[in-house]
Amino acid sequence: MTSGYFDFKRVRRRLRSPVTTGAGAVDSVDRIILRTQSDQGTGYGEIAPWPGFPTESVEQALEFLRSAQGNLPHLIAAVDASPTPLPCLSSALSSCRLWDKIATFGGSLPCAGLMTLSVMETDAKVAAGFKTLKVKISPETSEESIHGVLSRFPGRLRLDANGSLDLQTARRWTEFARAQAQVEFLEQPLPVGHPGYASLGPDKIALDESFLTPGGVDWSGTIVVKPLLAGDWDDLLAWRAAHVGSVVYSSCFETAIGRQGALWLAAQDASAGTVGFDTLGRFESDGRDRHTHGPAAGGLPSYDWAGFWHDLT
Ligand SMILES: [Mg+2]
Repeated sequence: MTSGYFDFKRVRRRLRSPVTTGAGAVDSVDRIILRTQSDQGTGYGEIAPWPGFPTESVEQALEFLRSAQGNLPHLIAAVDASPTPLPCLSSALSSCRLWDKIATFGGSLPCAGLMTLSVMETDAKVAAGFKTLKVKISPETSEESIHGVLSRFPGRLRLDANGSLDLQTARRWTEFARAQAQVEFLEQPLPVGHPGYASLGPDKIALDESFLTPGGVDWSGTIVVKPLLAGDWDDLLAWRAAHVGSVVYSSCFETAIGRQGALWLAAQDASAGTVGFDTLGRFESDGRDRHTHGPAAGGLPSYDWAGFWHDLT
């Protein structure tokens, strides 16, 4: 590409209630929506770092965007030449580059229901038709509370510790997960880089915060991929084609632009399975969610993305 332009808009989204992350409870996040224009047309992408994941920050991404002064080839060259990886910017540029395909995506994928440990929420998710549920666990979570969910629900359950457990507690939850047929996996029991993963082993242990981008970690168990944090999407698709083992695609609370791209990316994987995109309706009403909520996460083909961009303030 020898010519092309870009512009961007920064938005802040406030959560209705705090969400547990690998870096504690979070009540708002900043996102940057990127628009590119070149001889290949208009593209959109989203820079959406998520607390607890070691990517560039919104401020660091802004420095690159401002330095390139709207010149798309300069931005691409600066991201490629950066001595430190910029996975959020790389994935946003991938989305822009692939936007003509992404914009036509209207397929759908089964979606896990994200909930807190409550009888009411479990019953509501089951009634809504979710076949897989996901709950966050912490060092204080009791096995009884998980048994309570399992007894009200015939489907599969994912447990996510966001790296909050010590090795002894992680061992106990690993045994629990392996003993309960309904538990699909225990996600990120230990902090990123903890040596205890070798002793837990890969059976029913999924890595999320520890994965980030291809080449980041070698793990034969389930890997959770957040497309907006995973770097260049051509590299990600090439890694997936060669990777043996299950991959679960997951949201990082994107706006509709990021969600459309992330769902398209997930759908390129023929064995994508159940995705983790039950993140709609979590923010104060700001008009930046446009997809339909529910147990099937579907794309929005022929949507007015220029209108979406125009409405961003
Ligand atoms: Mg997770």
